Amino acid sequence: MTTQEMMSAFEQAYGHKAEKMYFAPGRVNLIGEHTDYNGGCVFPCALSFGAWLLIAKNEDQVLRFRSLNMPQTYNIALSAICPQPDKAWCNYALGCLDIIKRRHPEAALKSGYDLLYYGNVPAGAGLSSSAAMEVVTARAFTEEMSAVSCQSSDDKAYRTELALIGQACEHEYAGVMCGIMDQFASAQGKKDHAIYLNCDTLEFEHVPVKLDGIKVVITNTHSPHHLDSGAYNDRVRQCKLAVEQISKVKPIKFLAELTEEDWKEVQSAITDPIAFKRARHVVGEVARTAAAVEALKRGEIAYFGELMTASHVSLRDDYEVTGPELDALAEAAWQVEGVLGSRMTGGGFGGCTVSLVKDEAIEQFKAFVGKEYEEKTGLKADFYVAEIGDGVARLA
Ligand code: ADP
Ligand code: MG
Repeated sequence: MTTQEMMSAFEQAYGHKAEKMYFAPGRVNLIGEHTDYNGGCVFPCALSFGAWLLIAKNEDQVLRFRSLNMPQTYNIALSAICPQPDKAWCNYALGCLDIIKRRHPEAALKSGYDLLYYGNVPAGAGLSSSAAMEVVTARAFTEEMSAVSCQSSDDKAYRTELALIGQACEHEYAGVMCGIMDQFASAQGKKDHAIYLNCDTLEFEHVPVKLDGIKVVITNTHSPHHLDSGAYNDRVRQCKLAVEQISKVKPIKFLAELTEEDWKEVQSAITDPIAFKRARHVVGEVARTAAAVEALKRGEIAYFGELMTASHVSLRDDYEVTGPELDALAEAAWQVEGVLGSRMTGGGFGGCTVSLVKDEAIEQFKAFVGKEYEEKTGLKADFYVAEIGDGVARLA
């Protein structure tokens, strides 16, 4: 859909023209999985897919929500902004307005608004359509509500604040206790760069991704499985147990503080075999992520790919969050000549893999991986050749 078509859809829906238009991207994490809540770094990039938001003021003291992706529409009085029941999609937007007001007391909605969303991130695939929607809303309404205390800061700080608004919305209005990576990548993305982000301190660096003749290919499992909060909370608890047991010989706050050298010395302190495997993944993944960033800076893309593959193996064997669908995709990808590396991305069990594939191998990759995947799981995979795009922006 073109932006012109979105403008026409707005006019058709509301009977008047949109005044402003914004875009925020979805994201894919290249490496650094399940490191965020262990004090480690992640390495996501913003995609050229994302969420668009068109808005215009109305005279009616009401917020009207429509989406070209969803049949439900919502009319919410300005005086009644609070979480809506039944997983209403407008919560991802409404929450941002509420959080803006709470984080920036000078901000106010001075009129009603008509809003129209359109997204082309496949929803629920782990590419963060929800974060794109939150960040695009936060961008538009920090401006509309004159939240000057965040806008007057420098651009980087403003974008970090947009991510924090989006994350708070996800926690409070969607009930998903996510880390900061998704919203951060959507807000701070930069074309042809990935973001080396410490999720604890929010320090980050944009690292150029120069992939001559190589593409980032995302493959969607379309699996109904996902990392549920029970499995997620188990992993958090097991990592905490490892921290406690290691702290008897070397006091630490997070597993990510351990180098691989430290690991050799402290590993015997962990008596629980499951906690041991979880910790071994985290320590290895933190080191792999740092090594991958260095490899990319030196232009060693083949090594970067090997680290991605090693990341998948560790998530499969030690962290145990891959499952048959993601394993089928990654293991088929590894067999294709011209694939530099392939791994699951996101929380796990379902969602997507991310692969580095030489241009000339892309068709063979899709054909072989698609066929193997269907034979093993009975499901059809989808392939997206990703472009690394900019973070949130006003378009018109
Ligand atoms: P994801 O991994 O894509 O973020 P989530 O389950 O976190 O998956 O978020 C998907 C939900 O976000 C959808 O069910 C819907 O409520 C909301 N959403 C995302 N994009 C849109 C959109 N373009 N229009 C309306 N709602 C959207
Ligand atoms: Mg989400």
